[in-house]
Amino acid sequence: MSGTLSEEVRRRRTFAIISHPDAGKTTLTEKLLLYGGAIHLAGSVKARRAARHATSDWMQMEQERGISVTSSVLQFEYLGKSINLLDTPGHQDFSEDTYRTLMAADSAVMLLDNRKGVEEQTRKLFEVCRLRKTPVFTFVNKCDRPGAPVLQLIDDVERELGMKCYPMMWPILDGDRFLGVYDRVDERVYLFERGEDHGSSRVETHEGALTDDHILAAIPERAISQLLEDLELLEMAGAEFSEEAFLAGEVSPVFFGSALTNFGLEPFLRRFLQLAPAPGPRQADTRMVEPEETSFTGFVFKIQANMDPKHRDRIAFVRVCSGRFEAGMQVKHIRSGKPIRLASPTQFMARERTLIEEAWPGDVIGIHDRGNLRIGDTLSADGDLEFGGIPRFSPEHFARIVIGDPMKRKQLDTGLQQLSEEGAAQVFYAESLTGPAPIVGAVGKLQFDVLLHRLEHEYNVRARLEHMSYTGARWVDGPIREIERLAHGHGRMLVYDAKQKPLVLFDSEWTMRTTVDREKDLVFYDVAP
Ligand code: GDP
Repeated sequence: MSGTLSEEVRRRRTFAIISHPDAGKTTLTEKLLLYGGAIHLAGSVKARRAARHATSDWMQMEQERGISVTSSVLQFEYLGKSINLLDTPGHQDFSEDTYRTLMAADSAVMLLDNRKGVEEQTRKLFEVCRLRKTPVFTFVNKCDRPGAPVLQLIDDVERELGMKCYPMMWPILDGDRFLGVYDRVDERVYLFERGEDHGSSRVETHEGALTDDHILAAIPERAISQLLEDLELLEMAGAEFSEEAFLAGEVSPVFFGSALTNFGLEPFLRRFLQLAPAPGPRQADTRMVEPEETSFTGFVFKIQANMDPKHRDRIAFVRVCSGRFEAGMQVKHIRSGKPIRLASPTQFMARERTLIEEAWPGDVIGIHDRGNLRIGDTLSADGDLEFGGIPRFSPEHFARIVIGDPMKRKQLDTGLQQLSEEGAAQVFYAESLTGPAPIVGAVGKLQFDVLLHRLEHEYNVRARLEHMSYTGARWVDGPIREIERLAHGHGRMLVYDAKQKPLVLFDSEWTMRTTVDREKDLVFYDVAP
């Protein structure tokens, strides 16, 4: 049963997990589903993990399943809230889609390994959150085993990311054992019982005040004195939690737990539901769009191609921004001005695809498409407004694309143009559009495999890649003579994107950083201006 539009908006929470590979995202996702009742026994995501490690035949997987493992949006209910967890592909399938997905989230959970703190991919994904001022929760994972000192971890986050942290919970540890957490807001202790089933079911929790006998009896004395000492330190540090600063992405509440043993998950989830924002207004070209407006609007943030050549259709993922969506609804595709009927949208529940009848702001629907939709496109029931597009993020892998048969150049250009418009990879040209081999750029290497596969199967062009040693790019703005001069420097190259905007490629992080610092007359952008 669905409620009214404003009720449905209020109970929605749409978020993504940002983390570095191995921090425990798959495990946490699985446990959230367990707590949300979407799966009964944790373990179903394991198959996916196994598959991921044997990903050499990724295309095969795509073909067998008909849909990518990278494309899930998980919806589950918890304590009366309807939660959408947008999956952010990591590992080998890290791609521009990972960044784009964050454009559809209202908040993010930054998952850290308690031994490693902020890692490379955490940092990159965090930058996208910063771009949109997305509120970020921090969850320090793997507390069931010894990690770096807690204060050091927090310091690491603050220094590395330039974001304030507010420890909302504090871990109660005894040597190697993680006993529970202390909640600094309600001043209660949550102690966890070590289960026999290795975290495949919910964990038993005892709660009480720090002065309660049953709590004191359960914590060894030295753990209590350590806790009191830590809490005093935190008080002295004096930071206050401000919800406003959190919602502006300026301060992150920090939680501790273990996705493996489920310790700390429930206290975290409860606070998450309280603090995470429901879908809010979105800026369109002419005005703000409120989620409670009755007229449906949404935008495409990701397109998943079907790798099976027999089924050319692809799935466009649309984030609903306002109004109630109904299956079969006719909407206007703003870029082309044409009406389209959204016939059989799908939604993703755990790993199953299900057809849906309705969706609300904050939800994500998958629309079958034959190539009309592009990333960033707006769909609107009443037409005439357009959300800002999704930025193109600067690639980190580059290759020249070479064809054996020069007669295929035209097909190659058409294929590259269409695939780049769809967001599969970015295309650059060293000179003119008709010059020598175009250069393709991607955020993740897997994008190249997908690109070659699709060029061959959809455009009948067999191509190969000559990898280039550049590792970063920045769009650049300024006097053209200055830009051209730059390009002659060692370790740099000037290219143009499909819209003729200049970019400089760099052979190392160091070259990029020093160049950007030195060239004061030029402005550099890491997303397309
Ligand atoms: P992902 O790459 O971020 O999806 O990470 P996974 O969920 O696949 O976890 C990576 C490894 O860390 C696996 O061996 C997990 O069993 C382990 N792991 C995940 N969460 C925890 C945790 O809370 N405690 C411990 N000790 N190990 C964990």
